[in-house]
Amino acid sequence: MLRENAPVKAKPVASGKPAQGQCLCGNICFEIDVPARWAWHDHSQNSRRAHGAAYATYVGSWRKRFRITNGEAGIVRFENKTAKATRSFCKRCGTPLMYERARSPHMVNIPRALFAGRTGRQPLYHVAIEELQEWTYAGEPLVPLKGFPGVVWQRSKKKRGSDRDGMF
Ligand SMILES: [Zn+2]
Repeated sequence: MLRENAPVKAKPVASGKPAQGQCLCGNICFEIDVPARWAWHDHSQNSRRAHGAAYATYVGSWRKRFRITNGEAGIVRFENKTAKATRSFCKRCGTPLMYERARSPHMVNIPRALFAGRTGRQPLYHVAIEELQEWTYAGEPLVPLKGFPGVVWQRSKKKRGSDRDGMF
């Protein structure tokens, strides 16, 4: 069996390459140094509304490890004085970009979904879990929907007073 003389270099576990992300239209691009500080799911009403989603999943980065690499002039900010937080969006496509809280001035929180690759942190934490919505998908078993390829569904639990299960 042939063997190469040169030793095979092992790939480093962490490449040190920044994690890059972007908004939907691609105008805003940014990056953070990895690993991120932490990551979590946010079930609070404010984050649900800001994302128009069941909950938001964020990656928290130290501010000094976060950089806008394109489109900075295309970012608009909404200051929520009641919540003492600022949320930034792409003014062209509306993608939520940064969530900054007055009580953590050194942190910038970025929606996890905007990153294409790994950020060095898994979202293991939940904030405001008591606000988890009954309609949030939480891993219940799903079965194919007959006649609709690619659509699966959770068989109705027949809960009285909840949303009707009819979709089609
Ligand atoms: Zn955009």
